Amino acid sequence: MIQPWEDGEWRPRPGSDTRGVRYEYARKPKKCPACGSARIATILWGMRIPSEREFEAIAAGLAVVGGCIVTDDDPNWSCSDCRVAIYGRTKGSA
Ligand SMILES: [Zn+2]
Repeated sequence: MIQPWEDGEWRPRPGSDTRGVRYEYARKPKKCPACGSARIATILWGMRIPSEREFEAIAAGLAVVGGCIVTDDDPNWSCSDCRVAIYGRTKGSA
């Protein structure tokens, strides 16, 4: 049983060097761009009680709870193995 988010807060794993690297995808990637893991978790932002389906996804390592502080620049997904943050690419002015 992997419990990557012991305290329920999203954060990079200490020691994983993702500084200066920002992964952006229009859709949820099938593989982690950093380590190649297929276990990409969707981050559920906002302080709320997960639905039963979401809870199952969390238990399976397919989703994580992001926490209650939401900014304009939060990652959409996170690797369950190396915890790299993956951002959804938004169309906007260049
Ligand atoms: Zn990874």
